Amino acid sequence: MFKPMDLQKDSLKNTDITDVEKVRCLIIGSGPAGYTAAIYASRANLKPVMYTGMQMGGQLTTTTEVDNYPGYPDGVTGPKMMEDFQKQAERFGADVRFGVASAVDFSGRKHKVTIDDNKIIEADAVIIATGATAKYLGLESESKYAGMGVSACATCDGFFYKGKDVAVVGGGDTAAEEATYLAGICRKVYLIVRRDVLRASRTMQDRVLNTKNIEVLWQHQTVELFGENGVEGVTLVKKKGGPDEETVKVKIDGFFLAIGHTPNSEAFSKYLDTDPVGYIKTIPGTSKTNVAGVFAAGDVQDSHYRQAVTAAGSGCIAAIDAERYLSELK
Ligand code: FAD
Ligand code: NAP
Repeated sequence: MFKPMDLQKDSLKNTDITDVEKVRCLIIGSGPAGYTAAIYASRANLKPVMYTGMQMGGQLTTTTEVDNYPGYPDGVTGPKMMEDFQKQAERFGADVRFGVASAVDFSGRKHKVTIDDNKIIEADAVIIATGATAKYLGLESESKYAGMGVSACATCDGFFYKGKDVAVVGGGDTAAEEATYLAGICRKVYLIVRRDVLRASRTMQDRVLNTKNIEVLWQHQTVELFGENGVEGVTLVKKKGGPDEETVKVKIDGFFLAIGHTPNSEAFSKYLDTDPVGYIKTIPGTSKTNVAGVFAAGDVQDSHYRQAVTAAGSGCIAAIDAERYLSELK
């Protein structure tokens, strides 16, 4: 899984770097938000330079079928879709480069971004589209069954479990929302909660507790997943460490993680306002951050929807905001 580098390095150390390039529009990140911004920015003649980060193509390159992105009536694999995004951006002249933004200095009118600790890009406008990373429990079996019954996105993968039994792990609003969504598709949903209370809001809790085919497994922790050709069940421990600790096996076909996401925003948090989790704050209805000329798009600024199509839409917004900002700079 992609983890950004140590992004809080003191930008003063970058005075040693002699390779400095000036660009009008820099895009950081190559998921649906970044590529859509690149398509719009290159068509607006902003000559965008994009740095892809370690995960070229973003989160969708880790999945197989994408069935909910408009324009693909027969579905498409994540990697193929992102290849198409890249080709479309390059067709209009976007300069797509492999590299990681390792530090930034947003204190002046020119925004300085250090790439791979050895080059500085000075940009008039920066679009941050670095995404978010789902948290996993860290079990060996999570990686073993990746794409074979383990998912961190019910909206994306729930449909594959129509009429089947699944489990969701987590006790927050995301877990409650995912469990309720899956309950409309699946036969049975187990909600695995590590404490004896839910963290989710009262409304979401009520929804979960009043849905007949959701069973909350209170005070259960996940030990491992098992199965021959994909997930067939989960081993849990109930009331771990207590006198009545018990190991339980539950038969399921799908296991959904909903224990939170980490927005990839550390590089920018010294300069940009974020919420307590780290999502970059934008002015509602725009991609504008608190720094003029710095825009944010996609999952890095969206704790709520986190879909390819919403990320792409916000990439479009960011490119249009950047174009208007740059035209006023002249
Ligand atoms: P991302 O796709 O996360 O891309 C972020 C980009 O930023 C990456 O290219 C990364 O390399 C780059 N980056 C990060 N840090 C840096 C840095 N410091 N410097 C340079 N680059 C950096 N959504 C759907 O709509 N339908 C689906 O079917 C679906 N299936 C999914 C399946 C899986 C397994 C997962 C994990 C997600 C799925 N999603 C799906 C959600 C969807 O992938 C995301 O909402 C979407 O990819 C977000 O796009 P983004 O452009 O904001 O960021
Ligand atoms: P969250 O609020 O941080 O909740 C994470 C949940 O996962 C918690 O219940 C936590 O348990 C559990 N958890 C964490 N690590 C775990 C582990 N290793 N094993 C088992 N359980 C673990 O994250 P979120 O639900 O993604 O929500 C993030 C933010 O988005 C919140 O502010 C939320 O309100 C908001 N949100 C809102 C909506 C909505 O309004 N419709 C929908 C989704 C999200 P503990 O409770 O024991 O810590």
